[in-house]
Amino acid sequence: MDHVTGLRCRECGRAFPAEALHVCDYCFGPLEVAYDYEAIAARTSRERIAEGPRSIWRYRDLLPVHDEAPVDLGAGFTPLVRAERLAAELGLGELWIKDDTANPTGSFKDRVVSVALTKARQLGFKVAACASTGNLANSVAAHAARAGMASVVLIPHDLEAAKVMMTAVYGGTLVSVEGNYDDVNRLCAELTSEHPSWAFVNVNVRTYYAEGSKTLAFEVAEQLGWQAPDHVVVPIASGSQLVKVAKGFAELGRVGLLDEVPEVRISGAQAQGCSPVATAFAEGSDVIRPVKPKTIAKSLSIGNPADGWYALSAIRSSGGSCASVTDDEVLEGIKLLARTEGIFAETAGGVTIATLAKLAAQGTIRRDERVVALVTGHGLKTVEALAGSVGPTATIAPTLDAFDAAVQLEGDLQATYKQESHR
Ligand SMILES: *Cc1c(COP(=O)(O)O)cnc(C)c1O
Ligand SMILES: [Zn+2]
Repeated sequence: MDHVTGLRCRECGRAFPAEALHVCDYCFGPLEVAYDYEAIAARTSRERIAEGPRSIWRYRDLLPVHDEAPVDLGAGFTPLVRAERLAAELGLGELWIKDDTANPTGSFKDRVVSVALTKARQLGFKVAACASTGNLANSVAAHAARAGMASVVLIPHDLEAAKVMMTAVYGGTLVSVEGNYDDVNRLCAELTSEHPSWAFVNVNVRTYYAEGSKTLAFEVAEQLGWQAPDHVVVPIASGSQLVKVAKGFAELGRVGLLDEVPEVRISGAQAQGCSPVATAFAEGSDVIRPVKPKTIAKSLSIGNPADGWYALSAIRSSGGSCASVTDDEVLEGIKLLARTEGIFAETAGGVTIATLAKLAAQGTIRRDERVVALVTGHGLKTVEALAGSVGPTATIAPTLDAFDAAVQLEGDLQATYKQESHR
């Protein structure tokens, strides 16, 4: 039984075969995977999923693959952590953090890449390629190595050191381009026509790649005991993740894994230095005006987001919101999450937490809502951003006197106890 019926144009609805296609020949609209939901509903069940692996591949029934072995480093099934201390600081009720820092290469990109390269291998591709703001580069290089495929990765020249090293170490071809992501992406589109035998994760196999983000919605629902949250906060780069999280919740209702199609408010998070979607939302406009990114949140620095308009309409139709935060607020967000919950996020996670704080303060995210914030990348990837902002409490000579002079630990702890008992 085949649960994928093919590809379909998101604009005009025309059908295409499930090949390496991404735009409609007729109207240039983007394509997306089409499923036979009746067939899926007949086959899938909560029990069947529970018997699956502890990874995104437990949701295979709702992914665009057949029986083939996945290209798998163990992406997904990351912790969903109840965040009581953070909720208290923000004046929220039930708050959860989806901790995607725990993925194999430290970001949510492992979900989408695992799906994209599984499909690419099935279609016969031997080379995996991409343009990346950093995390996609890490994940494509790692998964290609795992699959025995060659990789060609293009990045902007000014990425964080960890993201460069963490791509190069896997031994593929890594090209640093003098330009921003939008320049790199343009070059990548030209290379796609030059090298039709390469699977460009963000171009000719993007249709399959994008489906991997639905697993965030699937996991959140399963980890909440097969219930949907009321409100989810999602960071936006191209906007693909946000659109697919919304689609994921809707599909769970459609195939009977949830009792009905849930009403989940989806809110978007951007950095002020790259906020084309948040700006359109604030202006009540339907037009996403491209920007030149300037922010420490490099993983979200896409000035001309491919799925920006779809993200905006998913936000609006769900009753969610979209906001942007300054780089200082991003740093505060990183530190707040680390201090209250013990989770170290990269700058994109800082964007999510700072936006969560802003929307909570405005009353847009309400105390009576069950809220999930998506923390999508690990802090070790962007330590540069914290330089000068955190560091040792003191640097001392190796003597007891020096320690006692520098650290009033008992006093500090007493102050902490006092704070706790005031709560
Ligand atoms: C790529 C990325 C996102 C957002 O991805 P889009 O689907 O392009 O919007 C969010 N967080 C991190 C850490 C990322 O690397
Ligand atoms: Zn079309």
